[in-house]
Amino acid sequence: MKPSFHHKLVNSPLEDPCLFVRILREKRAIQFDLGDISRLSAAEMNRITDVFVTHAHIDHFIGFDLLLRALLRRETPLNVYGPPGIIACVAGKLKGYTWDLIAGYPTVINVFAFSGRRVSHAIFRAKKRFRREAGETRKSDGLLLKDPLFLVRAVRLDHSTACLAFSMEEECHINIHRDALIKRGLPIGPWLTLFKRLLREAPGDTSRELLINGKRYTLGQLADIAGITRGQKVVYATDIAMTAGNISALTRLARGADDFFCEAYFLEKDRDRALERFHLTAKACGSIARNAGVKRLSVVHISPKYSDSPETVIKEAMREFGG
Ligand SMILES: [Zn+2]
Ligand SMILES: [Zn+2]
Repeated sequence: MKPSFHHKLVNSPLEDPCLFVRILREKRAIQFDLGDISRLSAAEMNRITDVFVTHAHIDHFIGFDLLLRALLRRETPLNVYGPPGIIACVAGKLKGYTWDLIAGYPTVINVFAFSGRRVSHAIFRAKKRFRREAGETRKSDGLLLKDPLFLVRAVRLDHSTACLAFSMEEECHINIHRDALIKRGLPIGPWLTLFKRLLREAPGDTSRELLINGKRYTLGQLADIAGITRGQKVVYATDIAMTAGNISALTRLARGADDFFCEAYFLEKDRDRALERFHLTAKACGSIARNAGVKRLSVVHISPKYSDSPETVIKEAMREFGG
């Protein structure tokens, strides 16, 4: 199956971590973290509709101004998702400029802060000179964005401050085999929509049942009429304290990812420093990737301490990953 996303790291592993993901079927892109994004072209920035910010340390958020400037006349709103405090951070950035001449601009910025249980929404419109307006608050188990093509989920982790890690996952593809339906004398009808939904909700659960023309079937009994192709999955995680809770939550999020972008800020020999600075070591990064069964690991965010030999850090992570 053809991939639906194309991702590229904006900077080298020694620079600010930023991941740009283009959605191939649409003229649209998703951005993870907003550090120095000056290497993105104006056309690339213009495609960005949704930004997922792990936390607002300067190396992950200094690029907001550059993106804002690029989108200032765009009709399509910009959505920014981040940890608690992100709404105040965006409001603070917007307060740093004079906006007397933009009442005719169409720009709208939606900001969503995920607490771990709830998502709070605030709106900033150019026509209101970017004064903060309150949106709704909704409960969330981590699902931040449900797009017809993909889902973005977050987990809240700890990095002395709250920090989010994200997964971007294409919905699985379900193909109904018409020949198999006809062979078994099953009708084409609205039950197929429910059938597809049940398969999506719990792909491995064959015991769930549904009614077709008054007769009860389990999903297992209908297995031959559908083909399921798993969609592409990309996971992005950085600035994570090496706690047991963080490691197990991130391993769950990254489970089975095709591409896992993860920080490896320190070498294992500098573990004490990693604990002090709330970062992962390269060994911990590789071990999470291995335990999560990801296909490919890309190391991001290596401390400038290793600027002479960043490959040593990458090697340590890859050795532990075994990929
Ligand atoms: Zn950082
Ligand atoms: Zn940080």
